[in-house]
Amino acid sequence: MSTAKYQRPTDISQAIDCLKHDPAITILGGGTDFFPARVAPGPAVSVLDITGIASLRGITIDPSNIRIGAATTWSDVRRAALPPAFDALKEASVRVGGMQIQNRGTLAGNVCNASPAADGIPPLLALDSKVVINGHSRITGFYNWLQTDGFAAR
Ligand SMILES: Cc1cc2nc3c(=O)[nH]c(=O)nc-3n(C[C@H](O)[C@H](O)[C@H](O)COP(=O)(O)OP(=O)(O)OC[C@H]3O[C@@H](n4cnc5c(N)ncnc54)[C@H](O)[C@@H]3O)c2cc1C
Repeated sequence: MSTAKYQRPTDISQAIDCLKHDPAITILGGGTDFFPARVAPGPAVSVLDITGIASLRGITIDPSNIRIGAATTWSDVRRAALPPAFDALKEASVRVGGMQIQNRGTLAGNVCNASPAADGIPPLLALDSKVVINGHSRITGFYNWLQTDGFAAR
């Protein structure tokens, strides 16, 4: 019998506890990369679905920062009132897949999936964005993160 678990915490501290308990657990956003990659039966993996964490979804804008949460979908990006520098990211948000993919798929999932064709990567590089990892325990430049973490962040 499979021992794989599905967990859907509702706050970041619960999610971090899950990660501490099982560092190999797979973080799940919209699942639009994760599930299509598993069309053939394979070993079951435990997943940590972060879409129940309300504080991770959405875009907050303050005078010094624009923060895009890890559960923010492409449709959220499309609807946000962002400054002109974000036009390329907005353009990506209407080009990724179709509307169903845009409604489920997240920008974070796009870059964490490590596809060289990911539409979110060029605009985030052009914006010189930063990545906040593991509930603020680490903040790094997006370019460095791509180099040093090999596209996988925890
Ligand atoms: C029909 C179809 C069309 C598509 N078209 C495009 C396209 O035009 N352009 C494009 O770029 N992509 C496309 N995609 C790929 C996909 O939809 C996007 O990459 C999407 O943004 C992935 O987000 P997600 O939340 O669904 O990721 P998920 O599937 O949930 O996760 C993807 C990977 O990232 C990891 N991950 C997710 N979130 C985190 C996190 N917060 N921290 C650490 N790891 C994390 C997961 O473990 C998994 O390995 C398409 C997919 C489909 C099925």
